[in-house]
Amino acid sequence: MSTSHEYDVVVVGAGTAGCYAAATVAREGLDVAIVERKTAEEAGHIACGDALKGADAFPESIPKSQIEDSFTNTGVDHGRFEIPQEDTVLDIPVPGELAVIDRWEYGRLIIEGAENAGTEFHYDTVVQDVVQDDDDTVTGVRGKRNGEVVEFEADVVVDGAGSLSILQDKTDFSNSRFDTNVSYSQFCSAYREIVEVPEPVEWDDALVFKPTERAAGYLWYFPRTETTINAGLGFQMNEEPMKLVDDLKRDLRDRPEFEGGEVKDKLGAALPTRRPYDSAVADGFVAVGDAAGHVNPTTGGGIAGAAYAGTYAGEQAVRAISEGDVSEEALWHYNERVMDHFGARYAGLDVYNVLSTAVDVDDLMGLLASLPGEKLAEALYSGTTSFGPTLLAKTAKDSFGYWGQILHFYKTKNLADELMEHYARYPRRPEALDVWQEQRDALMDDIYEVTGADPKY
Ligand SMILES: Cc1cc2nc3c(=O)[nH]c(=O)nc-3n(C[C@H](O)[C@H](O)[C@H](O)COP(=O)(O)OP(=O)(O)OC[C@H]3O[C@@H](n4cnc5c(N)ncnc54)[C@H](O)[C@@H]3O)c2cc1C
Repeated sequence: MSTSHEYDVVVVGAGTAGCYAAATVAREGLDVAIVERKTAEEAGHIACGDALKGADAFPESIPKSQIEDSFTNTGVDHGRFEIPQEDTVLDIPVPGELAVIDRWEYGRLIIEGAENAGTEFHYDTVVQDVVQDDDDTVTGVRGKRNGEVVEFEADVVVDGAGSLSILQDKTDFSNSRFDTNVSYSQFCSAYREIVEVPEPVEWDDALVFKPTERAAGYLWYFPRTETTINAGLGFQMNEEPMKLVDDLKRDLRDRPEFEGGEVKDKLGAALPTRRPYDSAVADGFVAVGDAAGHVNPTTGGGIAGAAYAGTYAGEQAVRAISEGDVSEEALWHYNERVMDHFGARYAGLDVYNVLSTAVDVDDLMGLLASLPGEKLAEALYSGTTSFGPTLLAKTAKDSFGYWGQILHFYKTKNLADELMEHYARYPRRPEALDVWQEQRDALMDDIYEVTGADPKY
C-alpha cells in the first residue's frame, strides 16, 4: 500500500528552519506541507541549550507575539565564564536581546505558527528517500508512516531535517554545486539535562560557561527560570570522545546549588560547528538550518540562523515557482542572502573554532583570565571578534606572560578578517563558485599553517 500527496513545496522537519520556511511559503498562498518523523505530541522537543539570541529581530513569518510565551527568562544580560584553572570568574555583558526559553513550548508554538499560516502537517512520517527525475531535479520525497510508504511530490523540497540530514545522503548532487564536503568531524556532539533545583540560583541573570577538561569542549548552565536550569556540555567530534552523561553528572555533583536537584528531561544531538555550506541549493532542492551548517560555530547557537535561513528559502522557493524555474540558478540568491546576513560572519568565526583545536586549553584560559572582562566584551563583540591592536595595547600590562599567545591570535584574527572579506564577495552566479572556492581554500591553507591545526575541510 502507498499513499501520495502533491504540494508546491514540501518541507522535511518541523524544527525552527522548517517551520519558518513553511510559514513563509504558506503566507504567499502556495500549498505547503511539513513532513515530520516525530508524533504530533513529541514534535518540537529538540535537544538545545535554550538560549535564544536576537529574539528582538526574528523574521515575521511567524509573529514574535506567537512565540513570546515560551520566553521564560528575559533577564539574562551577561555571560559568566568560570575558569577553574585560573580560579577566576569573568562576567561579560551580552549585547542585544537574549532569552532563555522553554524549548519544547517554543517548538510547539512555532509549529502552531506555521499551521496558522496555512501549513499542513504529516507527523509520524520518516523520510527515507529523495525522488529525482532523469536530469537529477528533485521532485519529491518518499517516507514511511506506520509501515506504509508515503510519497510527496513537490516543485521544491526544503531539507530542514537537521544535522547530518539523511536527505543529503540520498540525493545525487553530481549535477549541482551543493556542498558535499561534510563530515561528522566538523560537528559537535552535545547533551543536556533540564534540572529543577530546590533553591533559586544566584546567577539567574547569566549564561554560565565553563571549559571541559579537554580543548574545544564546554559545559553550560543556562537558567530557564531561577530554579529550572538547562545544564549541558559538548565536544568537537574530531577530539577524543567524552562520556557526556557521566561528565555532566560529575560536574553537577560538585556544584552545591544542584544539591537535591531533580532531572526532568534529557536529550542529546549533533550540531554543526563548521562554516555554512558553500551552496545549499540544487535543482528543486534547498537545505536550511542545521542541514546547511547555519550555526554559529563558536557558540553553537543555531535557532536564529535557522529561522532566517528558513524564511529566505521560503521566499526564494515562492519566487522560483512563480517564475516556473526551480533550477539551482533560480534558487541561488538564497545562498547569497544567507552569506550576506550571517554566513560570512560564521565562516570567520569558524577560524577560531579551528584555532581552538590547536591551542593548549590552559594557555587559552590563562590568557582569557588575564584580560579585564569589559575589554574582552569589547573584543568579542566589536567588529569581527577577538584581539585587535587597541585591545592588545590596553591589555598588554595585564597579560604579561601571554604575549606569544596574543601575537598568535592576532595573526589568526587578521586571516579571519581576510576570509570574511572574501565571503563578502560570494558569487552571484553558480558558475563563479569554483574560482571563489579555490581562493577561499588558499586562505584556509594559510589559516591551517598559522594556527597549526589539522585541515578541517
Ligand atoms: C545540545 C544542544 C544545545 C544547543 N544549544 C543551543 C542554544 O542554546 N541556542 C541556540 O540558538 N541553538 C542551540 N543549539 C542548536 C539549535 O538547537 C539548532 O541549531 C536548531 O534547533 C536548528 O534547527 P533546525 O530546524 O535546522 O533543526 P532541528 O531543530 O534539529 O529540526 C529538525 C527536525 O527534522 C526532523 N527530522 C529529521 N530527520 C527526519 C526525517 N528523516 N524525516 C522526517 N523528519 C525528520 C526532526 O525530528 C526535527 O523535528 C543546540 C543544539 C544542541 C544539540
